[in-house]
Amino acid sequence: MTIPSLSIGDFKIFWLNGGNFKLDGGTMFGAVPKVLWERRCVADAANRLAFCNDVLLVRTPEKNIIIDTGLGNKLTAKQLKIFQVSTPWSLIDDLAQLGLTQQDIDFVLLTHCDFDHAGGIVMHDLEGNEQLTFPNATHYVQQKEWEDVEQPCRRAQSTYWPENFNLLKQQGILKIVVGDIEVVSGIRLRHTGGHTRGHQLIEINSQGETAVHLGDLFPTHAHNNPLWIMAYDNFPLEVIDRKEEYFKQYSRNNSWFTFYHDPDIKACKLDEHNGITHTWPAAE
Ligand SMILES: [Zn+2]
Repeated sequence: MTIPSLSIGDFKIFWLNGGNFKLDGGTMFGAVPKVLWERRCVADAANRLAFCNDVLLVRTPEKNIIIDTGLGNKLTAKQLKIFQVSTPWSLIDDLAQLGLTQQDIDFVLLTHCDFDHAGGIVMHDLEGNEQLTFPNATHYVQQKEWEDVEQPCRRAQSTYWPENFNLLKQQGILKIVVGDIEVVSGIRLRHTGGHTRGHQLIEINSQGETAVHLGDLFPTHAHNNPLWIMAYDNFPLEVIDRKEEYFKQYSRNNSWFTFYHDPDIKACKLDEHNGITHTWPAAE
């Protein structure tokens, strides 16, 4: 299968397969009534919607950067069934298709540490042993997020799985950051909070063009109304505020908004009323 890609100046973004799963429709749209959200998404008989977990690879002329890591290959048979995983994680094969190996990744930027974003930090090798998926990469996490990984609240315990983080601690390749920082020229992290306390966005700038990855603040194009937010958000009012702020700021400079969970649309542009003006791939 061809890997979708989009150029931003000298950089190129690729959407790699981090596994597909199904989630309850209600949980993905919070307080929005089904009669409204089902105009945008079609649920199955059990009220579930299909989502992907697209790992973004950003290639700059010098560096290879991964944004979030997908479901990984450590899910048990029971978990695969619970989450209705229809397409397994194929990150290593997708990288090979682009002529890259696990060793070629320089940075892993984690929007946050829920299992569907952090599951591929550590993978099983052919013998079933745990290994870091990207052994040469520096892994970036916000300090608040890492505090919650180490001491998860009652709610986070079900989604911050220790097996996804243990090897990061041992190898000393973890970079804990506070607030807004530049990773390399053109790649910036900004602390957002909202979905989780330590959630962060990734801004990608090259040659006057911009893409922004809002992670779970803007999981699919159907979430373009700032009030359409997930029931999984820990700080819902903060998510609404942040969405309004970022939509305004980034649409003003004609940015692409890139998606992690959208099965059809990989990126979109918004007008000043948050209406979708462009999609990638382009609508037929
Ligand atoms: Zn997610």
